[in-house]
Amino acid sequence: MNIGGGWGSFMRLLLIITLLMTLLFPAVPVMAGEASTGLSYDVKVQVDGDQVAFPDQKPFINTGTGRTYVPLRFVTEKLGATVNWNQQEKVAIVEKSGKTVKAPVGSNEPTVNGQAVYLDAPVRLINARTVVPLRFMSETLGTEVKWNSSTKTVYIKVNQAAGETDASPGSVIEITADVLNVRSGPGTSTPEIGEVIKGDKLTVFESSQGWYKVELSDGSMGWVSGRFVKVDDAQDSPGVMQAVVDATNVNIRSGPGTDHNIIGKVDRGERLGILEQAGNWVKVELVQGGIGWIADQLINIEEAEATTPLQEEQIREELENNQDRGENYPPPSEEKEEEQTDWQNYDSTVADLEVGEDNGVTVATVNTTGALEHHIFTLTNPDRLVVDLKGVKPGDLAEEINVNSELVKRIRTGKFSENPDIVRLVFDVKEPVMFAATKSKKKDGEELTLKLYVPNLGTHLKGKTIAIDPGHGGSDPGAIGSSGLKEKDVNINVGLLTANLLRQNGAEVILTRSTDAYVDLYQRTEIAGRGGADVFVSIHMNAHPKRGYSGTSTYYRRDNISGLGVSQADNRLLAQQVHSQLMQSLNRRDVGIKQANFVVLRTAAMPAVLVEASFISNLEEEKLLAKDSYRAKIAEAIAKGLAYYFAQKES
Ligand SMILES: [Zn+2]
Repeated sequence: MNIGGGWGSFMRLLLIITLLMTLLFPAVPVMAGEASTGLSYDVKVQVDGDQVAFPDQKPFINTGTGRTYVPLRFVTEKLGATVNWNQQEKVAIVEKSGKTVKAPVGSNEPTVNGQAVYLDAPVRLINARTVVPLRFMSETLGTEVKWNSSTKTVYIKVNQAAGETDASPGSVIEITADVLNVRSGPGTSTPEIGEVIKGDKLTVFESSQGWYKVELSDGSMGWVSGRFVKVDDAQDSPGVMQAVVDATNVNIRSGPGTDHNIIGKVDRGERLGILEQAGNWVKVELVQGGIGWIADQLINIEEAEATTPLQEEQIREELENNQDRGENYPPPSEEKEEEQTDWQNYDSTVADLEVGEDNGVTVATVNTTGALEHHIFTLTNPDRLVVDLKGVKPGDLAEEINVNSELVKRIRTGKFSENPDIVRLVFDVKEPVMFAATKSKKKDGEELTLKLYVPNLGTHLKGKTIAIDPGHGGSDPGAIGSSGLKEKDVNINVGLLTANLLRQNGAEVILTRSTDAYVDLYQRTEIAGRGGADVFVSIHMNAHPKRGYSGTSTYYRRDNISGLGVSQADNRLLAQQVHSQLMQSLNRRDVGIKQANFVVLRTAAMPAVLVEASFISNLEEEKLLAKDSYRAKIAEAIAKGLAYYFAQKES
């Protein structure tokens, strides 16, 4: 039966197939030979620049194989193929321009014009609908497929107009001419503003009339002709999913269950390739080679492409725990301070440490018998302020000093390193604090005065211009919770609350949207840039196919993205300040400070963070997100984090 002739007949057939499937397959069958770790519906499909609406079965990514699936009707409707369905053998027969694909449900070996090909993503039945692997079908039928992981969109070119370019925003092009002019607009009549050379790789922001708007190495934007570039395909395949270990000292077993032997150990942050899943166990590839099983509640599943979150405090934490002087002490920092080594010969000793309180400010004064250098940083979860006194021996400094001021519980002290000498003071604080330090010379040594305080929001927010970007909106609902709560609605509410609070404290606020409107991602940072924003905060709620996932994360730009010249140290500081306030006030699981190549993070011309305050896909957090009081808490934490950021910048 040929059903390529009309949509009506196809719909009727689909209905019949659906009914048959429902009768034949009461439960969703999982096909043998395929990893089925989970399905993520966080994927969009564009054909020739138009977003495709899927009225019933939505496209999804199999998080085990990284393959995107679409319903079979997409193949006829959008790719213009003819589909025959052999009900008896359960084979989809797809034909277009001389190619015939026969794909039996569940088989890893469909045939193309009679030739068997291997496929890691067989045709499947999901919710009694036939779904097909998008890339295999599209490419076999002669259409071009691109995947952009930052927009989670599959771009398909069916009809390529003459002279039209084919690299979608977010993809990377490589220059093929020896030297190529960069112009201020799409066309040779616009002024030259620079040059690129053969082999340069550039990210595409938009395309027009055969020209690409690209980001240059200095962070500025310009246009290059599409005639002298090729699309870098390495970036275009969907990322393979990885298990990221989310606990310490986790057992790897020989099989899926605690009755199997322990064959290894892994630690928090390690990334393992996912091979398959059985029940609550995931089969993984170990970094050192070999294969084992890990319990799924001890991992997060992430796209392999994402960088390992660079959590500076985690690195510092390791250093703190490591009493040996690490090779990379002091912690790696973007602004390479002049390497100070003089202090290694100071030969000072702590003479005394006094702590007092003045109007809510805790003041600590350290006197040493000789010269000292200091290095101060904060740690979260629990909140601490760490002061390293370099070139100094502890003398008879008490190991623990009970302070119990408004902000400080106690100070723990210790010899962090000997020869060279470093004394470490750890202030266990009751909430995230700001600090100021002054050092002065005394007759017989030096004095370091530390002030620990909570900044007044108004003092630090007054006169600042802050862009608040409530994620999604309009036709894009974002993630949807099981009660039907839409991420876009939570985001706009939290965004408006944050804006109010910031304005009350004297800041100027630019909202990228103040209503339920769809705003393009690139427009969002443009709006912020036009308004002269000092910082950019994008507000989102997280979602994961696993309902058990919960907690708070804050993102900033990845290190390998040039990011319009914005200092990575500022991005990180902003992320740290906002994240520690969110942790303090929401008190949810700490998913961490992470780095990602999100469009809004890499196209912001000012320090930018993206907040995933809680998981709307988690029942408990969805309930919290429905509450005004919880939304207000998120807004307060963001405003406070911003105040801390500016306070730190000005100190
Ligand atoms: Zn979102």
